[in-house]
Amino acid sequence: MANDDTGAQWNAAEIESNAKQHLLQPWEEMEKLGQNVRTVIGAADGIYVTDTKGRRLIDGPAGMWCTQVGYGRREIADAIAGQAMKLAYNSPWSSTSGPAAEAARRIAEKTPGDLKHVFFTTGGSTAVDTALRFVEFFNNVLGRPEKKTILVRASGYHGSTDLTAACSGRPFNRKNFDLDSERISFLSSPLPFRRPKGISEAGFLDFLVKELEDRIAVIGPDRIAAFLAEPILASGGVIVPPEGYHKRTAEICSKHDILYISDEVVTAFGRLGHWFASKDVFGIEPDIITFAKGVTSGYVPLGGLAISDKVLARVSGKNAKGAWFSSGFTYSGHPVSCAAVLANFDIIEKEKILAHVRELAPHFQASLRALATSPLVGDVRGLGLMACVECVADRDNVGAENTELDSEIAKRVDRHCFDLGLIVRPIANMCVMSPPLVITRAEIDKMVSILRQALDRTADDLVKEGKWKP
Ligand code: PLP
Repeated sequence: MANDDTGAQWNAAEIESNAKQHLLQPWEEMEKLGQNVRTVIGAADGIYVTDTKGRRLIDGPAGMWCTQVGYGRREIADAIAGQAMKLAYNSPWSSTSGPAAEAARRIAEKTPGDLKHVFFTTGGSTAVDTALRFVEFFNNVLGRPEKKTILVRASGYHGSTDLTAACSGRPFNRKNFDLDSERISFLSSPLPFRRPKGISEAGFLDFLVKELEDRIAVIGPDRIAAFLAEPILASGGVIVPPEGYHKRTAEICSKHDILYISDEVVTAFGRLGHWFASKDVFGIEPDIITFAKGVTSGYVPLGGLAISDKVLARVSGKNAKGAWFSSGFTYSGHPVSCAAVLANFDIIEKEKILAHVRELAPHFQASLRALATSPLVGDVRGLGLMACVECVADRDNVGAENTELDSEIAKRVDRHCFDLGLIVRPIANMCVMSPPLVITRAEIDKMVSILRQALDRTADDLVKEGKWKP
């Protein structure tokens, strides 16, 4: 069948049947395997996706925090097609390519401090996994094999390889997996909204910093290799740590020669109005930055890490003592993906998208914060073009964890939003918003108005069903 208006190449019944019989999706609810099909998206343009039933929806999460420059960009499509015809693949074991070298240069030009060497991977999980493998290699080459513990935070998310899943702190995702726990040490989530009762936000920062210092003292700095941290904990619900947290934690790590890995898989490439957020937004120069997603605006897979030259100098040249960093992927520095990076960066620069984000962000944040007048909203938080509307049934009694009713509220808000033309995709009770960066002020207003209507409709439904009272 030829493409129709919805972009469908196969008819809806065929897609449903193929997906039910053969497709195992990420985070599959196994009890329902083969019964449900997720929304089938056939086409997309700008900030909109169109499903195969012809519904045009605002892409609230930007795919999966990744479609920075929006859909349907001819320049990126042409760069991908052109590179595929010229050189579709080269083995990074024995050769390199123009696009890989140039993409590394363009990224290194934008990283803070001396993070000037870039290692390419296939996505975010492999970027973080490789960063952790590098840290392991680093300490072994330096002759301190006992310096291996990785400090991470509850509510963090770092990926879906065995090691990055072990570093991710959402309990639901850990069930039924045998994740490494020996080398990993969890600190508290820096979420001010659910901080212990009776502590001010400044007091909460002191609590978090003291917890880190105490943990280092208990484990011993000689046994701790790295602190792995998202600048804003994205999938954990857009958790913006208290002001000053990044600098204070980075100083402590530096004092103890603990490498600071800033996981910028979500926050890099414009989400917060800068190429990278670590220095420009939070004032720190990490030892390693991991990235993925927005580096190609999601057009093709790619991830990577940038490593500090000071750190590299300690294990390279004479200091390498003959060691090889034997880590990498068949698709490291894939020429087609790297060609997409270059076209993507050209668009971001030509259209001044970072400045656009900085200009729109205050309006985006203020409009969403106005939703806090809804009795179903417990907290609205965020920075740049990422935000979270956290739904709660009882605003006056917020505990350490969300309740089932809180999550039910978010699910209903999501369904109403979908009917009204907006994709939300809540995480438990949290409606997370991170639209493509090319969104306009009018489109933000439309998004927020849909959310407001969805919250009102949800409140009405719950009252009618006797499940909740304002
Ligand atoms: N790190 C962070 C902060 C993420 O949000 C994600 C994915 O959402 C990952 C790592 C894993 O990236 P990927 O899904 O590309 O493997």
